[in-house]
Amino acid sequence: MGKDDQEAYMHGENKRIEIKAYAKINLCLDVQGLLENGYHQVAMVMQQILLCDDVLLRFTPDEGAEGLAISMGTNRPYLPTDRRNLAWQAAELMAQTYVPDIKGRLRIDIKKRIPVAAGLAGGSSNCAAVIHGLNRIWDLGLSVKDLCEAGARLGSDVPFCVMGQAAADPGLRVAFAHDPLACHCAVATGRGTELEPVPGLDSHLVLSKPPISVSTAEAYRGVDEVEIPRRPDIPEIVRGLRKKDRDLIEKNMVNVLENFTLKRYPIVVYTKDKMQSECNCDALLMSGSGPSVFGLCTDRESAQEACRIMKGINRESFWTRTTV
Ligand code: ATP
Repeated sequence: MGKDDQEAYMHGENKRIEIKAYAKINLCLDVQGLLENGYHQVAMVMQQILLCDDVLLRFTPDEGAEGLAISMGTNRPYLPTDRRNLAWQAAELMAQTYVPDIKGRLRIDIKKRIPVAAGLAGGSSNCAAVIHGLNRIWDLGLSVKDLCEAGARLGSDVPFCVMGQAAADPGLRVAFAHDPLACHCAVATGRGTELEPVPGLDSHLVLSKPPISVSTAEAYRGVDEVEIPRRPDIPEIVRGLRKKDRDLIEKNMVNVLENFTLKRYPIVVYTKDKMQSECNCDALLMSGSGPSVFGLCTDRESAQEACRIMKGINRESFWTRTTV
């Protein structure tokens, strides 16, 4: 072994991995009261969509370092690039839990496309991507279940994002092809972390986010104060997914958080009304706690045309499709 080879061996190899951090929509969402731990009890169907952020991880081992030095950057200047970022928290959690003696530098770069604080789980998905990426970079060999358990400590939507990336990310899906939790769509119960994979919906869609942010905590608090005229029938929507019965699915697309968010933020009502009256969508719903609204379209052309119209109303409008 030459001197240079020895150096490389002592310091290990630099490693890099890029993970696609996909967004999600809720095909339905019900809030069923408070759990003992203070979280709301939910029942919802979560569906992964192709709209994604790119999360690039680069790790440089350094035996001379004191521990793990994390740094990060994103293309959204208003997002924190320190411990407040969920991606950073994911890296710290993975290091502390699985490799507490790790020494080196970790760089996280996120190219964001998913609107922030939009009900699309953008932050949770970035968090899941770091969990997956470090499982690979540090050769931890963890299953989707293990990775979900780690993710649940950082946010209720993280486990679903972990499962979705295991099924859809080009660099992960082969390794997880036989993992029973790798999936594109799931029923979530409890605080949203008890997940059962179900067949996904195959659809084009348009997404439009009004230029406001809705805090998830605010919407969940608010929904306790409002009347809820209609709740989704989860077994029915699952039956629709299994039978690929689009009518049955669309009939049960209900999100109880709309009862708070639409009342509190008229711009979400405006967005929904415009999508309803001017776009060729089969069914519309607010995703998560909002303010994003999505509309299902029968083909790509309708989704593109709907996106063109919605861009005239909300700059952050996209055409995309579900992953299957
Ligand atoms: P969810 O559907 O899981 O509630 P969301 O779409 O409502 O997610 P996020 O985009 O995850 O919301 O952002 C919520 C908050 O998290 C923002 O105020 C943002 O400052 C913070 N945050 C921390 N890390 C990130 C990240 N990597 N990407 C986006 N937001 C982040």
